[in-house]
Order: sequence, then structure tokens, then C-alpha cells
Amino acid sequence: MDNTNSIHGHEYFDEATGAFIPPIYLSSMFEQRGPARKSSRGVDLKYSREENPTVMALEKVISRLEGSEDSLCFNSGMASISSIYLNAIKSGKNIVITSEAYGTSIKLAEELSKFGVKVKKAFPSADDIVSMIDSDTGMVFIEVMTNPTLKVIDVDHVSERTKRLGIKFIVDNTFLSPYYFKPLKHGADLSIESLTKYLSGHNDVIGGSVSGSKEKILDIWEWRRMLGTIINPISAYLVIRGIKTLGVRMERHQINALKIAEYLSSHSKIKDVMYPGLENDNYHEIAKRMFRGFGGVVSFRVKGGRKEALNVLSSLKLIKPSPSLGGTESIMTYPVLSASSTINEDDRKKLGITDSLLRLSVGLEDTEDIILDLEQALSKI
Ligand code: PLP
Repeated sequence: MDNTNSIHGHEYFDEATGAFIPPIYLSSMFEQRGPARKSSRGVDLKYSREENPTVMALEKVISRLEGSEDSLCFNSGMASISSIYLNAIKSGKNIVITSEAYGTSIKLAEELSKFGVKVKKAFPSADDIVSMIDSDTGMVFIEVMTNPTLKVIDVDHVSERTKRLGIKFIVDNTFLSPYYFKPLKHGADLSIESLTKYLSGHNDVIGGSVSGSKEKILDIWEWRRMLGTIINPISAYLVIRGIKTLGVRMERHQINALKIAEYLSSHSKIKDVMYPGLENDNYHEIAKRMFRGFGGVVSFRVKGGRKEALNVLSSLKLIKPSPSLGGTESIMTYPVLSASSTINEDDRKKLGITDSLLRLSVGLEDTEDIILDLEQALSKI
């Protein structure tokens, strides 16, 4: 069903021409002669900072995949997150967020202290998160599989508590995509994707989405309108196009990732490998229970420290040393200096985000070629 929805879920059909591929509507505004035309969300279609037909086509596909009543698309994953934070926070309330997550999501939450919001950081485990929730908690924010060490959080366990207490529970699902996990089916109130990653899939778009109930999405729609964080129609079209192959790409990412995780596990220069698809991974059982697949990111620690890790990174030929993940090209990052650089040293130590850690987003190249590149880079240390 997900593959069919990925291709046809935008529901676009033009009676006048018979075209069934959504066009890129570049119009900034829409004619206002008499009452405004309504978008399918029921709001006035008048200005592309508020509503745009190409963006709405993308939002329909994403809703189908997330199993949500409605979705909104933003001009980056961070635009989704910042819009949600601003929509959800209340002075005097606290946010419970995991100490391991995309560094900018944590940093932004911390910055909200200037609006009287307190941030409580939990170790990324359901027990720890639940233990941090109190009567002043207004929002719980987690990544279901954490960036960068791929710890898996029991979403059902957390949502059982947030539902009982009526607390907003927000899940960043970027590392899995809705093809492998649907947070709303496990009790999350909102599911976030950085569309920059697997959904667009080709390392050529920046975008984000938020999915949830009609009521919650309409509330956030107002914030998107005021903040001006809607995705642009060209990027929206590129994501619609990318999503059509989400299923085949995710399955191939995963096949490649598992082979590479196995290769790295038996390599003499590697200390340890993190990939929930490996049977001996600490999170294999819970990932198998919750997810339909394990994704395409593999993290590992080299023997040695910063010098050895950076040496591997700079020796790569095919794999790009670069931030981001989830695209056709294999990409390797050094978390301590990139996505995790804003996480404090104490937390990094507890989380295992060490100087020897590298994160590999396994692309869609031939597995043998990725392995050949890793082999020659690892031979340099
Ligand atoms: N969430 C996760 C898990 C990420 O890894 C990232 C970026 O790397 C983001 C959100 C932010 O997305 P964007 O770069 O599209 O703003």
C-alpha cells in the first residue's frame, strides 16, 4: 500500500488536459474576485506563503504515508521543528527532550529558556524519558532512532504516559521515514520528517514535514503562516518526485547498510558498530518489534581517536565527507564536529559520541564499491 500511496497519493488530476503529474505552481498569489477559492484544507487560497497547490499535493502524499489526517510542509526540517516548538511552548512549562538528538533541535529547545521555558534532558530511553515527565511538562520531543548512535526508543511506552497526562508527544522520524515507521500509529501526536533526507532522497532538496490530526495541523498552519516557513513549490515538486521511489530506495539502502555493517563488524581497525539491523546490536529486538525496517545509517568507532577518525574521513574517494543522510550518494560525517557539536561534552561522553565515532549514510551505489572505498580509507590508519 505504501508504494501505491507514494506514487498516487498526491491525488492530482487535471480535467482540462488529462495531466496526472502535479505541476509546479509558481504563482505567489491567487485571484481574489469575489469569495476566495478554498484549499482542500478548507482555508482561503490567496497567497503562497499560506497555501500553494503544489505544496498541498505533497502534503496529501505525506499524510497517506504517515497515516495522518493532515500534514504540513516546511522549508527545512528545522523549520518544522521551530514552528512546532513555537506553537507548543508555554512560559513556566518544561520540555522533555533526549540528550541525544540532532544537535540543533536540542540547542533550539535550550534557547527557548529566554521565553521562560525549562528544558529537561533525558537519556534516550523510554524509562528515563518517562521519569522526567512531571505536572509542568508541556511537550516531549524525541527521535525514534537517535542521531548519531542509533539508540531506539520505545515509543509505545512513552506515549502511554503522555496520552494519560495529555502532554504533546512529538517524534522526529527522519532516520526511518514513514516507510519503516509510522509514529502516529504508536501514540505520537505529531510526526516530523526532515524531507531533506530519505523522503526527497537525492541530496538536492531542503524541506520538512509535520503530520497529525486535522485540529493540531490547523493550529500549526497558523504558525507556519505567521513565521513564513512554508516549503517553496519547486522543492515541493522535487519531494513529490523523490517520494515515488521511497520504498525501493529504502529497501536498497537497508540491504547495502546491513552488508556494510557486517563488513565493518569484522574489520580489524574497527572497535564497534551500531546498526539495529545487526542481530547482536543492543537495539535489534526493540527495533524488530517496532519498525518495518532498520534504515540505511550505520555508525561505528574506529580503533584510536580523533586523528584516526579524521584520517578515514579525509581518505574517502567515493563516499562524500559531508553532513546529511538519506540520499543516493553515500555520505560520511564526523558527529563530534558536525551534528553533535552543540551537545555538551559531558552528555556526549555518556551517550558514546566519542572522538572515534563516524556516521555513514549508506547510499545506493553498488555495495562492493562502497566497501572498496572503506577498505582503502581504513588501510590509512
Ligand atoms: N532531524 C534530524 C534527525 C536530522 O538529522 C536533521 C538534520 O540533519 C534535522 C532534523 C533537520 O533537518 P534539516 O536539515 O532539513 O533542517
